[in-house]
Amino acid sequence: MSDKPVTREQIWDFFKTLDRSRFIEDDNLKKLAQYDRPLPIGHGQTISQPSLVLAMTQELNLHEKCRVLEIGTGSGYQTALLAQFCQHVYTVERIKELADKSRARLESMGYTNISFKVGDGSEGWAEFAPYDRIIVTAAAGKLPTKLIQQLKAGGRMIVPVGPSQSQELMLITKDESGLITKESLGDVRFVELRGEYGWH
Ligand code: SAH
Repeated sequence: MSDKPVTREQIWDFFKTLDRSRFIEDDNLKKLAQYDRPLPIGHGQTISQPSLVLAMTQELNLHEKCRVLEIGTGSGYQTALLAQFCQHVYTVERIKELADKSRARLESMGYTNISFKVGDGSEGWAEFAPYDRIIVTAAAGKLPTKLIQQLKAGGRMIVPVGPSQSQELMLITKDESGLITKESLGDVRFVELRGEYGWH
């Protein structure tokens, strides 16, 4: 395994083969998995539209040695895309039932490079920090500073930030001297990141 960059084309090629219906339980909803739209996954949570999951994965500029922290495991669809291209994915989900189902699903697909945690991901996962990449798939009311602390120098983090109706997808980069740069990648709509950095 090298720290060779993963190209946008490699991600696109795998993305096309990843059947989203495997991540959805409800038979009626499974039929809609092929469409580019968000879908409910139970517990009031949603899986994002595939085009957004693809774009977020590509913006991370992954390489094969990446250790990635993901907040909001949900169905595990985004987790699979990350695990396919990275050395290890650490994923945190606050709803145990979703985490358990995703673990079973991803293990049955053959992934052995994912660690799962049930808990408040706005705290990050200090035990394995720092991470080369961090991706948050629920909307924060303000930038989660604890997560930025767990980002390695030279690392990239993607997080939706803003109120419930619409958020800005923020790309946070940390340079080798620890300097933080923020850039907006456009408007998105996610379910709430609960806990300290949520809306309430
Ligand atoms: N990426 C997921 C979609 C996630 S939806 C997928 O591909 O299916 C957002 C998820 O974030 C939900 O499952 C929700 O329960 C979870 N979540 C919200 N706040 C959280 C928190 N503070 N810590 C961990 N998970 C959280």
